[in-house]
Formats: sequence, structure tokens, C-alpha cells
Amino acid sequence: MAHKIAIIPGDGIGAEVMNEAMKVLNVLENHYSLDMNYDVFDWNSDYYMKHQRMLPEDGLEKLKHYDAILFGAIGDNRVPDDVTVWELIMPIRKAFQQYVNFRPVKQLKGIESPLDNSHRGQIDFVIMRENSEGEYSDSGGLMFQNQEKEMAIQNSIFTKQGINNIAGFAFDYATKHHYSKVTSATKSNAITHTMKFWDREVGKIADAYRDIDYEKIYVDALAAKFVQQPEEFQVVLASNLFGDILSDLGSAVAGGLGISPSANINPSGAFPSMFEPVHGSAPDIAGKGSANPIAQVWSLALLLEHLGKEDLHDHILQAIEELLSDKTKVTKDIGGTASTSETGDELVKILRDNKVGFK
Ligand code: NAD
Ligand code: MN
Repeated sequence: MAHKIAIIPGDGIGAEVMNEAMKVLNVLENHYSLDMNYDVFDWNSDYYMKHQRMLPEDGLEKLKHYDAILFGAIGDNRVPDDVTVWELIMPIRKAFQQYVNFRPVKQLKGIESPLDNSHRGQIDFVIMRENSEGEYSDSGGLMFQNQEKEMAIQNSIFTKQGINNIAGFAFDYATKHHYSKVTSATKSNAITHTMKFWDREVGKIADAYRDIDYEKIYVDALAAKFVQQPEEFQVVLASNLFGDILSDLGSAVAGGLGISPSANINPSGAFPSMFEPVHGSAPDIAGKGSANPIAQVWSLALLLEHLGKEDLHDHILQAIEELLSDKTKVTKDIGGTASTSETGDELVKILRDNKVGFK
């Protein structure tokens, strides 16, 4: 049966790179017999200017019926950033219980990394970030307003269920993908309530996976190690805030925002998962035709992998690496000279002409 996916291009370069991902989707349908139906939704800042909301009232209800969501990026100077984020991305992540944020940190062949002198070709791990609670809980507030002792309180909420869910997913993933180690980011020396609880619960899960080594490292030291010994990592497990910061660092060491994909996963399959580049709408380059579409196409590959099409995922990554071997065919951010659409067209050509290893 055909899979059904919802496509939300969003604002700025989100829409530009989504165009290229859709070209790839079309070539997969026409040449790789991918059976996929999709609908495109115009929920972005233009929509907000017309309707004073980012999502229609029945938006989540509509999305619920898809097998997966491919998202571009949002952000526009006419709408405050916290509105675009909290009215579009957050409701989707929360309603669909996408409690895993998954980010591969992999230096593709042909991509330059600031660590090339010491670690060329050794950067290849994944980050599992808790995506629904922890430090990003909308709990707290201002107290003693306009008084000398005014203060702000932001509560972090860690639940046993939440920690078990993300840790269980990380260890399952490690088992399934033949990794031998999970590294947990902690800070229980200084954050003594939530992080000690995190360590205790993650430790219990780790005990149940005898074949996987488990280590916990303080997140500050872990950040340094991402730069100094990135080859040490396989699966990195982190809370919402730590995972957010570590994954931007991961993206930087693996070659930059233009190529970094991510997945918001609902492991139970009860609701659709959402796949999106790590980058935003990049107003500084929007409309110039210079955005790198690779992060968006890689996100599409993750979507296909999630729907059980591992072979297509691998094939798209091979095609991307083939593309990267010729700098005239990629965008400026990764040292090339091509435009967004030229890059997409080249990728389509590679996929169309070169089905090597694909049955
Ligand atoms: P950004 O990711 O949009 O841009 C950061 C820098 O990276 C910019 O210089 C940009 O030109 C460059 N860049 C990003 N993607 C690129 C690509 N594909 N190719 C080439 N260069 C690329 O982050 P920002 O500037 O902090 O935010 C801009 C807007 O995007 C804001 O409104 C923000 O809220 C929004 N945002 C949205 C998401 C999302 O939709 N999930 C994520 C991050 C930021
Ligand atoms: Mn972030």
C-alpha cells in the first residue's frame, strides 16, 4: 500500500530546499518504484499573516492520518520566532509524542570539517535527544515583579516514563544497528535532583542491555570530547537542553548546517514522525538560490528509512556522496559554486542514471 506523507515547506529557504527534496521524491517514484502519495500544506508565516495562526484549527487532526511528515523550516521577520516555533513545530512534536530527536553526526565523503587535520573521516555517530520534557518544560514564571528581589523560575521536569522512553530507544537503536556503546550526557555533580534521577534511570536501562557498554560523561567534558576525540562516540544520549546544544556542535564538526538532518520520532508508530533539516529559514540567504538542499534531502532519506525503506536511504546517501565529489555541483556553504536548483538537478541525474547496487 502506498505511504502517505504530509509536506510542510515553511518559510524562506525551507520552501527552496523542499523543492529539491520533492524532485528527489519524484525520481524515486518514477525510477525506483517508490509508492508514495503526498500532500503539501502551506502552513507558514504567510498563512499566519492571513489567518493569525500558524496551523488551522483542524491542522493536527489532518496531519494525524499521514505516515510521516517532511518539514522544511520556518521563521520570518513578520512573526515573532517564539510564535512560529510554539504554534507550529512544538504542537506537532507534542501532539504526536515525538519524544526522540535523532540526529546523525556523520562526515560524508567530500565534506570538509574543522577537525580534518586531526580526525578526517572519523566522525560518525548519532545523537538521541529527549524531545518532550526536561529543561524545555513550560513551567515557572516571574516572581516579585518590579521589586528589588524579582526573580525568574524555570522548572525542569523529568519523568521516569520520559527517561525510560528515550533511554530505551537509544539502547534498542544501538542493538539494532550493531553499535557497542551508549554515552549518556549528565551533569549530576551540579544539577543534583533531575540529573541524578536521569543517571539512576538510564543506569537501570543500561543494566538490561548486557551487550552494550554504557558510560556517562559530564556534558561540559563531553562537549570538549566532541572536538578532541569524536571517534570515541557511537550513540550519544542526552536530555532536551543538553541534546540541543550537543547536536548543534555535532552539526558544526560534521560539516555544517547545510547538510545536517534530523528526525522527530514517535517510536510507537501511533502517530506520524517528522523529518526536518537542523537549519532554520536563513533569511540572510533566502531568495538568492544559494541554500544547500542536502540537509533536506538527507531528512527525506531518514523518513524513508523510518518507513522501512533502508535500501533507499542508503542509496540516497551514496548519491549525495557521489555529488559531493565534484565541487562545481554543490552550493557555496560547502565550497561549491552551484545554485540550490542546480544541486538538486545534479542529484536527480545521479539517482536517475546510477542505480548501481539497487534492485
Ligand atoms: P538558520 O539555520 O536559519 O541560519 C544560520 C546560518 O546558517 C545562516 O547564516 C544561514 O544562511 C546558514 N544556513 C542555514 N541553512 C543553510 C543552508 N541550507 N544552506 C546554506 N546556508 C545555510 O538559523 P537562524 O539564522 O538562527 O534563524 C533564522 C530563522 O529560522 C529564525 O526565524 C529562527 O527562529 C528560524 N529557525 C527555525 C528552525 C526550524 O524551522 N526548525 C530552526 C532554527 C531556526
Ligand atoms: Mn537547536
